Amino acid sequence: MIEVLRRFVEIESPSLEKQATDRCCTAIAAEWAKYGVRIERISQKHRGDHLRMTWWAGGGRPRGQLFVLGHYDTVYASGTLERTPFCVRSGKAYGPGTFDMKAGIVQALFALQALQRLQISLRKRIVFLWTSDEEIGSGSSRRLIESEARRSDAVFVLEPSLGPRGLLKTSRKGVGEAEIIVHGRASHAGLAPEEGVNAVHELAAQINRIERWNDLPRGISVNADVVEGGTRANVVAERARAVIDLRALRAADMRAIERKLRALKPVHRGARLEVHGGFNRAPLERKASAALFRLAQLLADEMGLELGETMAGGGSDGNLTAALGIPTLDGLGAVGDGAHSPREHVITRAMPERAALLASLLAC
Ligand SMILES: [Zn+2]
Repeated sequence: MIEVLRRFVEIESPSLEKQATDRCCTAIAAEWAKYGVRIERISQKHRGDHLRMTWWAGGGRPRGQLFVLGHYDTVYASGTLERTPFCVRSGKAYGPGTFDMKAGIVQALFALQALQRLQISLRKRIVFLWTSDEEIGSGSSRRLIESEARRSDAVFVLEPSLGPRGLLKTSRKGVGEAEIIVHGRASHAGLAPEEGVNAVHELAAQINRIERWNDLPRGISVNADVVEGGTRANVVAERARAVIDLRALRAADMRAIERKLRALKPVHRGARLEVHGGFNRAPLERKASAALFRLAQLLADEMGLELGETMAGGGSDGNLTAALGIPTLDGLGAVGDGAHSPREHVITRAMPERAALLASLLAC
């Protein structure tokens, strides 16, 4: 498993660099081709190509479809590997994209091998989809993910688990981004302040209002992450802008926040507001994963493994499939730590365990 992981990690695959990412796509396809799966490479113009693999070994027609979902792009620009090369030290495999989430792809490959070697007759067809743009919002893969999910009875997402115990992610917050632009009127701050409408003041008032929407115990967080406005001292600011990060654990709260955003009214006479954006991933509510998690726990128990769960504040492609009402279990990938940092690594001992867990889920 480590050797395959090394192969995948040593070909860097930054979401924004198509050529590099396509090379990694080729390497992953070559590895999977050894196991007789049907491979479709879905070519993309600006992003790396997506890989869809199908496996059906049962006799006759499958009684449904299981969907294994992940991404092979990483957040690291080309060249990162020189500073943080792939290496295995005291039971941990380090390198960019090991944990998030190339080890997940390796585990899926070995889960498939296990099913094949044990000649387990499957009830359902398995579709594996490895996308190239999850880390930048899944713009080119979203429709593919959604249409595959609609044909599936369950979705297993191989995003990293959480913490040393490898907790699965049975709920995830919905994630969004809104932009508020305030239009005011410029004027001389000294000679004619009464003729100005200060866009910065207006934006400050709106942010003050929005801040009160936060309800952390309920899983709602709203944060102005970027603000800008005005041109120079002595001039009443004509324009101001804020970028707001939006998170909610419940779909109903997501909709309420979007409604409130649209309903914002200016506080200062003469100011005008423009609001763009909103949620782009709905929450993965726990009810979407509860039954699959119980099943996973049962299977893990038979294997003598402990399996816990947690909520994640960040979104993944699992949010997209859960939002369609398809049962989704996320965080089934590697156990490790340090995603999106130079410390990124996976616990190698857990790789076969998690591969076995996935194999048993796919055999159900
Ligand atoms: Zn990821």
